Formats: sequence, structure tokens, C-alpha cells
Amino acid sequence: MPSIIQLLPDHVANQIAAGEVVQRPASVVKELLENAVDAGATDIKLIVKDAGKTLVQVIDNGQGMNVTDARMCFERHATSKIRQAEDLFALSTKGFRGEALASIAAIAHVELKTKQDADELGHHIVIEGSRYVSQEVAVLPTGTSFAIKNLFFNIPARRNFLKSEIVEQRHIIDEFQRVALAHPQIHFSMYHNGSDVYNLPISNIRQRIVNIFAGKTNEKLVPVEEETEIVKISGFASKPEFAKKNRSEQFFFVNDRFIRSGYLHHAIMSAYDGLLKDGSQPSYFLYLTVPPSSIDINIHPTKTEIKFDDEKALYAILRAAVKHSLGQFNVAPVLDFDRDPSLDTPYDYRNASAATPTVEFNGDYNPFADTRPNTPSRESSSFSVNHSTGRHFPKATGNWDSLYIGLENEKDSIPTTGFEFEADVITSSLFDDVHEKTVTKTYQLNRKYIVSPIKNGMVIVHQHRAHQRILYENFLKSITIKKGLSQQLLFPLHLYFGAEELQAIDEMKDSLTNVGFVFDLNEAESVIVSGVPVNVSESEVSLVLEQLLSDLHSDIPLTSFSQSDQIAKSMAQSLAVKTGVTLNEQDQENIVNGLFACKEQNVCPFQKTTFTTIRVEDIDKKF
Ligand code: ADP
Ligand code: MG
Repeated sequence: MPSIIQLLPDHVANQIAAGEVVQRPASVVKELLENAVDAGATDIKLIVKDAGKTLVQVIDNGQGMNVTDARMCFERHATSKIRQAEDLFALSTKGFRGEALASIAAIAHVELKTKQDADELGHHIVIEGSRYVSQEVAVLPTGTSFAIKNLFFNIPARRNFLKSEIVEQRHIIDEFQRVALAHPQIHFSMYHNGSDVYNLPISNIRQRIVNIFAGKTNEKLVPVEEETEIVKISGFASKPEFAKKNRSEQFFFVNDRFIRSGYLHHAIMSAYDGLLKDGSQPSYFLYLTVPPSSIDINIHPTKTEIKFDDEKALYAILRAAVKHSLGQFNVAPVLDFDRDPSLDTPYDYRNASAATPTVEFNGDYNPFADTRPNTPSRESSSFSVNHSTGRHFPKATGNWDSLYIGLENEKDSIPTTGFEFEADVITSSLFDDVHEKTVTKTYQLNRKYIVSPIKNGMVIVHQHRAHQRILYENFLKSITIKKGLSQQLLFPLHLYFGAEELQAIDEMKDSLTNVGFVFDLNEAESVIVSGVPVNVSESEVSLVLEQLLSDLHSDIPLTSFSQSDQIAKSMAQSLAVKTGVTLNEQDQENIVNGLFACKEQNVCPFQKTTFTTIRVEDIDKKF
């Protein structure tokens, strides 16, 4: 029998290796930027088209390559950065595997232009899918330019797998920020589809952070400094009251390399113990310098996770250093604490009452037209079907009113069109268009549940989830039918965001306008909000937007529906009345009634149960 094992041809091996190194355009950005840094550049330009799908180009003024190196750099395991395995333990460069360019060249069209200072002329090489297309001598400035076009042109499955432009662009910006933050001594600039995204002059670390994240970053930060035998720490952490809703401003750098570490993150969070509101996240930019031999960066192909020799000690030192800085800051004058007190109440009733509710009701609607006998068994079964499937049952609303003891007693005396009196009940701060029957007896339990008697038992409504459901349906409706009510602000709000966040807001502009936001994006990285949806108070605006950005950061809208859905979900989550908030009777009633006027009543937008019922028989059994 003939032998069947064969060596894979190089271009195939490279394509396979590429899968590890290049997941998306942002991976190319990272590799090229790191190579430029390693080449000693002081000026690095990143040019991107169509979120990297069409072009990723990095131009540097570093040392360039001679003609042999310019050819060699595309070979696998071709690197100038290590010579032997031991060098791995004394690594001061970002690269070392010699794999990136070979991988990229295997799955894209690559154009390299490079010239060394001492040379008169440079070299221009074109490679497509590992195949050399041309090589010429050319007049070029000193340095290197890599242009990567049509990424994944020969792996359609991968190309199709790429996410929307917003998402890919966000990944690119993340990579750019990480490299730029690690090297403030290098001038970085970035352009996307012909317009400037960043221009970051050579500066110190603090200035670099401020240039990237803009706005109030400077006043947010306190310095963190510590030097011990095993680690030198420098950088900044944010004052607790500037904590964000998301983790987008948390950075560790070890020997100028961005890394992720859940363990070290935990150390920081424990330094903030007791200083942060639930779920809020401090910003931090911490630069650790350790002896290269005390870490192993070789454990992860994309090199963002590393192993430390003495993790426990590092944890303790880091925690103490941050704690110390925050402590120092706490004795500083209280003037810095100037904050809007209404932010402390997640749902601001005082402001919310300024809303102008509209009441819609169907005058012809007769809840008792459905004259099926209301036997207890029938009610409970219709209810439990509705409840257990978690699906949308339009009929449930019709049955719902018949569950009320009060309504049933008045059955004969209520005229068909006699629901006007309920309009008064509905004119409330929480809901705009409740038009079904209302409950009138409610009781709040544990500042978490609203209990209300129904015929043959009681209903227990989860206040937070029920309100989420109500708001979610309202917002979704506003976005899709494009008529969210807006209230104009007397003084427009200026909110500051980083470039990445501004871009995301810009992408959502239509949907946000539909829900009732009126705003303009300003060149200087601020959003000027002049109108807000009627059920959002001024003090909640930045909270809502921050939450939205962080939700979008972690998840990905692929279609306009999923974008609308996500915006509605996120806003409902930020604005829904929280557990722990005392509700007056009116608000309790509105939540219960609002919930049962929803299309889907059984679950909140995050698929958690909104209410349950207890039948009198169940109670009887307890006696
Ligand atoms: P690694 O960075 O791990 O060495 P790469 O495939 O990224 O592997 O690069 C291969 C080699 O090409 C590098 O070691 C370096 O010598 C050379 N090189 C890559 N990019 C540049 C650049 N921008 N300027 C000068 N030399 C470069
Ligand atoms: Mg490299």
C-alpha cells in the first residue's frame, strides 16, 4: 500500500495558521501596529476603509527593511526578534513568532513599501494569497508601509462571518487605543474612510489618555505610583464618583503590552470596595513593569494573556497601590464631589411627573362582551397556560379583567362606554398609554413586589421586571413607528464621549431620534442633547446613553430590528423602577395595569417571569 501522509504545501499551512492569528480586520491592525512600534517608529499612521474589509494600511517612519528582509518577512517563523528559545525570556519586543505577516499574506492582497535610511531607494512588493505578484525598486521615504486589501478574499466563509461595520470598526478602535495608550512617546493617527478618527501627538501618559478619551477624563483621574522589587506600577485610576456603567476604560499594560487579567482586575475592584455603586466600573490605566523573565507571554496566540511568576504578591501590591491613591484623594477638598443628587435615585419621580401623558382607550371595548362563564377552574387554567408558555397570548388581556373581584362586583352597573373615569387613574407619571382596565387595590411587598387581589386569589407582580416590559414595549413602538414624544430641555446638555462612543451614538442616531432624543454630535467629541423622551428625566440621560453604549459594546446588532430591540431593551433596563424603591399606590397600580396592557405580559424583555398568581385554593390548603 502506498504511503498516504503528505506535508501540506506552505500556502495551505499559512492559511491554516492564519486562522489563529487573524480573526478579523482588527487582528491585522494589531499586528501591523505592533510591528511598526518594534521597528522603532516615532510616527505611525493607521488608514482603514470599510472597517478594514477593504483596506488596513499602516505607515511608519521606523527602520524599514532591506531587500532580503522585505522578501523574508512573509515566510513563516521569519522574525528578527528572537534567535533562540531562551530569548523568549528576555523579550522586549511585541512580536516574536514571525507568524503574523505570513498569515496575513496567505489570506489577503498585501502591498509592502519599505526603505531603510541608509539606502537611496526602497522596495515595493506585492503578494496575493502567499503568491508573489511583483517586486520593484521604488523611490520611497524611510520607513515601512503595509497595505492589506481584501482580507479573507480566498476564504469566503471567513469573510461572510465578519460582523457589521460598526462592530468591526469598534474592534479596530479597541486595538488602536491599546497600542496608542502603551506608547505615548509615539505620534499615532488614525483615519477611517477618509476622515480623521484620532490624532495623538507625542505626550505623557496622562495627556495620551485624555486625548483618546476626551471630555472630563483629566479631572476623573488620580495617579497611582508604586515601586517594589518585583514590579513597578504607574498610571491612573478614576475617582469613584466618575465610575462608568461599562468596562470600556480598563487597561493593564505589562512591559508596554496590553494584557487582560481577570485576577488583576479583581485586585483593582477590591481596592474600590465600598466606594462604588452596584455594578459600576472604575476606569483604570495601569502600567506594570516587571523583569521580562518573570512573565510568560507565550501562552496565548494573540498574546493578551500572560502568566506572572508571583501573581499573589502582584495582586496585593496592586490593590494596596490603588487603595492608597484613592485614600489620598479622599482627603482632598470635597469640591470635587459636586454631583447631581437626583442621580442617586435610579428612577426620578419628581422629574418624571413633568411628562405629558396621553391616554388612549377604545370606547367600544367591552370587557364583558366575552360572556363565557367565569368558573374558577377556567380562569386559573387560562392564566396558567398563558404563564407557563411565556408566549404572546392576545386573549389573555381580555380574560385578565374578569379576574378582578372589584370589576366583577360592578359588572352590572358599569356601562359599556363608561371607562372615562379610568382615564384619571391613568394620568400618571409612569405610563402614557394604558388603555385597559385598571386594578385599584394594590400593596407593595418588600419594595419589590406588588400584590393585588384578583378574583379567586391574588397576583404578585415583580415591580422592576414588569416596568421593564412596559417601557420596552413603549420604546420599541416609538422606534418602529417613529413617533416617540420628546420634551425639550431648557438648557441643552453637553455630554462628553470618546471617539468610539461618539461613533456608536452616530450609528444609532435614527433609532434614538425615534424614541424622542433630540441631539447633535459635535466635532469636539460631545453630544449636545436638546430634547429627551418624555419618560426620561434630564438627570438620567447620560446614564441611559452610557448603559446603551456598554450594552452595545458587549453585544452585536446585526439588523436594524435587533438594533431597535437592543436600544429598547437597554433603555428599559436603565429606566425601569428598581427593586428597593417605594412606590406610591398610583405607581403600583400603573405598573400592574401597564403590564397587563402589554402584548407580552409573562416575561420581561430578558425573559424573566414578571408575575405569578396564587389561588385561594392554594391558600386554603395552608389552613
Ligand atoms: P514578528 O513580529 O513576530 O517578528 P511578523 O510576521 O510580524 O513577525 O514580522 C516578521 C518580521 O518582519 C519582523 O520580525 C521584522 O523584522 C519585519 N517587519 C515587520 N514589520 C516591519 C516594519 N513595519 N518595519 C520593519 N520591519 C518589519
Ligand atoms: Mg509582528
